[in-house]
Amino acid sequence: MGKVYLTGAGPGDIELLTLKAARVIQEADIIIYDRLANPQILKMAKSGCECIYVGKEDGKHILPQDQINEVIYQSALRADVVVRLKGGDPFVFGRGGEEGAYLRDRGIEFEVIPGITSSIAVPAYAGIPVTHRGVSVSFRVVTGHEAPNKEASQIPWENFKTDDTIVFLMGLHNLGQIADKLIQIGKPKNFPVAVISKGTTPEQKTIIGTLENIAQKAKDLPTPALIVVGKVVELREKLNWFEKELNNI
Ligand code: SAH
Repeated sequence: MGKVYLTGAGPGDIELLTLKAARVIQEADIIIYDRLANPQILKMAKSGCECIYVGKEDGKHILPQDQINEVIYQSALRADVVVRLKGGDPFVFGRGGEEGAYLRDRGIEFEVIPGITSSIAVPAYAGIPVTHRGVSVSFRVVTGHEAPNKEASQIPWENFKTDDTIVFLMGLHNLGQIADKLIQIGKPKNFPVAVISKGTTPEQKTIIGTLENIAQKAKDLPTPALIVVGKVVELREKLNWFEKELNNI
């Protein structure tokens, strides 16, 4: 039986891959990868490595999760080194925990290789630090996949009243509802919001707005995209660096 490496591919920029991830990718007999993992990474694999696509984005799965679990398990039964490659970090909305549990239940050894999560790196590439002295003492990473008006929402909206940073992943299609909900719990209508699309890649695009106008302004942005709500967004005026570099090319 082989070993499975639940591996973070980083947020997009291939150089944000860890050295450990690069090593197991080079050693892999089978790589099982998602849409969000930069496909350039697969070029690092040895010849003869089998690459299996089980892509998913914003909850739209090519394969349902239980079948992905089974593909990983079956791979471990027939290969020594299996890399399960996921965008960002495997344990940040990556369902890596479920995959690990499935393997553990079947006696398959696994290792977790954390990745640089988009929730921190993408704001950074847009010139937005998720914390900043005197501006935000904490940040939350929240799923935007769940519609805020859903009954029995699991998201503690009432806790979001402070000025601290909130990063919503998988939330572009619910952006209007998320912004309305935050206004409803008492945030000012002109509270700053950024939406960053295809972060850390040459196609990165950032839209800045307020809770009141962001849904309209960002409606045509392509996915993947994440939402940053917080006063830290204003720091971009001074700290924007990557998009400046992109525009100079
Ligand atoms: N495990 C991943 C997150 C998976 S959820 C991580 O740690 O980064 C998928 C969501 O992540 C997308 O819907 C989007 O909100 C966000 N995301 C991932 N890569 C992104 C990128 N390059 N630019 C903007 N958002 C991204």
